[in-house]
Formats: sequence, structure tokens, C-alpha cells
Amino acid sequence: MSNSLVYSRLYKWYESNRRVLPWRETEDAYAIWLSEIILQQTRVAQGMDYYLRFIARWPKVEDLAAADEAAVLREWQGLGYYSRARNMHKAAQMIVARGWAPFPTRFEDIRSLPGVGDYTAGAIASFAYNQPFPAMDGNVYRVVARLMDIDEAFDTTAGKKLFHRHIEQLLDTDNPRLFNSSIMEFGALYCTPTLGDNCSSCPLQAHCIAFAHGTAALLPLRKPRPALRNRWFDYHIYIKTQGGNALNSTDEITTLLCKREDPHDIWYHLYEFPCEELSEDPVVTRPRSASQHAKPICTFTHVLSHQRIHARFFIHRVSEFPVISGAFCVAWKELDDFALSRLTLRALDSIYHQ
Ligand code: SF4
Repeated sequence: MSNSLVYSRLYKWYESNRRVLPWRETEDAYAIWLSEIILQQTRVAQGMDYYLRFIARWPKVEDLAAADEAAVLREWQGLGYYSRARNMHKAAQMIVARGWAPFPTRFEDIRSLPGVGDYTAGAIASFAYNQPFPAMDGNVYRVVARLMDIDEAFDTTAGKKLFHRHIEQLLDTDNPRLFNSSIMEFGALYCTPTLGDNCSSCPLQAHCIAFAHGTAALLPLRKPRPALRNRWFDYHIYIKTQGGNALNSTDEITTLLCKREDPHDIWYHLYEFPCEELSEDPVVTRPRSASQHAKPICTFTHVLSHQRIHARFFIHRVSEFPVISGAFCVAWKELDDFALSRLTLRALDSIYHQ
């Protein structure tokens, strides 16, 4: 394959089709890093607001390093995968402590930051400094798998090495910034998981081995995913009122909140209503507690990357709060001040709309 022909066709497509994204219009490594962390496992449309809010509130790495972790988690609320926010905050503090501000310039230093893997380090080094490192995100794996007709899963150790060898041969070392931007955008917008008719007028069709072999729609391959772990959470929303009753007439209502404190479990340092985790599905086993005879106000199946949470929310109107380890009393109108788990936000949304 002639790489120079691939480059010229790819760059021509990119110039005509690329989206204008604020983090692609800057060479500020800090801003690019923020965008890359926010966009991990998040769609551009959803991540855009978060990026703009973060960069407005903490315009430099020193600002983010000096922020409270609780404020960072609060700003992150709703994006999920909260370890990304905690790692981002730790990384900002590391950058300042090591004298790397405004941002490290060596690939090895960028790669050493918490929450930064090969992809993110390559993206920052190439987009900010035009250094010749590949940036292999899911879109690039798909394009490379199809261009080279690679029938090895890309998410195994052997597969990653194989793909890495291919992308190193394909990378435009004279224009790494342009190459990485173009191939990522091409995968995001054109060589998509559902190809439709795109291959028939694809600018890279003549260079695409999977197209020639008729295998494009089958690629890329990934290793089988492990079964999701099921968990059953019963949440108890204790309501103490001084006057009004409705949860959206909030003045004198108080409730109990808990902070999740297990660093090895989901939603570390996020807040939620007191939670009782059950060892098995309460719907198919005999009820074990009085609360399980009550009717939940809402139920959700909340899917995370490795777990499926079956949640029920019960409302208890009380004159005195029960004593629950770790629980503390808050005014209902102040719930917004806490970094709540996405599941808790879903429950609140459902309750407000009933
Ligand atoms: S021919 Fe189809 S599979 Fe190959 S690069 Fe183009 S869009 Fe992707």
C-alpha cells in the first residue's frame, strides 16, 4: 500500500468533513488532556458541556490541582466512571508537584500520569506537540482492522501488539497531529460500526483489504466479554417533614445520605440514600425484611461496565430518623450540593416526575 496516497485521500476527506471541536482547535496540552479524559467512554455531544464547564472553572492545571476533590466530583456528576475524575485531580496535583506545569512535554511523563494510558498519552503528544506517536482509540482500531483485514481481537495483549505494529507502519511521522486527527475522525464519522453503503464511495476503498475480501462488516474482532455480575440494592429514602409533604416543595424536608467509602467498589466517594445490598434477587426469593413487603416508589436496572445493578427505592416517612452507620442528615433542597451517583439522580428524576 502506498502510504502517501492514503494520506492525501484521508486528509482531503478530513478537510471536507471534520467537526469543529474546541479541543481540536487548540494546542494547549492541558485543555487537550481534559477533553481526552472527559471523552473516555463518553459521547462528544454529552462531553462537550462538561469540557466547557471544566475549562471555564479551572482554566489552568494549577487551578484544578488546588480544587477540592468534592468540587471536581460534583462538576463531573452524571458522566459516570468517577475514577476518571479522581485520577484527573490527582494527575493535576502531580503535574504541579513535579514542576511540570503547564503540562509535561515528554511522552513518558504524560504516560506516567494517573488515568493516562497509551492512547491518551499518544493523543496529547501528537495533538499538542505534533510528536510522532499513534493514538489508537476504538475508531482507529476499527479502521486499521479493516484496512489491513486483521482477524485478531484488538483487545487482547497479542492483538494490541499486532495492531500497534500496523499503526506504526501507517503513521505519518511528518504530520502525526493531522494523521491522528484524520483517522480518528474518519472512524468516528465514516468507517463506522454500521457501514451501510459507505464502502461503495469510500476514499480509501482502493487501499482497504477487508473491502476487497468482503470482510469489512465483520471487523474489528474483540474478545468475548465476561458475564455481568448482578447485584441487588434496596435504597431507603427517609423523609422527615416539618410542614409540606411533596418532595418538590422542599423547604422543610430533611433526609439521610451516605457516602460510599469502599475504594474497591463502585461510586467511591459519591453520595446516595442508605443502601441495603441483598445477596440474591429479592423478587424471586422470599422477602427477608419488613421493607421488602413495601412497594418501591421506583425500580431501575442500571448497567455498568462489569455489573448490572437491580435497584429498588423505598420511601419512609418518619418522625425520627433511624440510626444507620455512616448516614447523616441533610436538607432535601441541598441534595444538589452533593456528588450523587448516576443511579441516585435517575431515582430523583423519576420521583420528581411522578
Ligand atoms: S472501504 Fe469500507 S471498510 Fe474500508 S476503509 Fe472504507 S469505509 Fe472502511
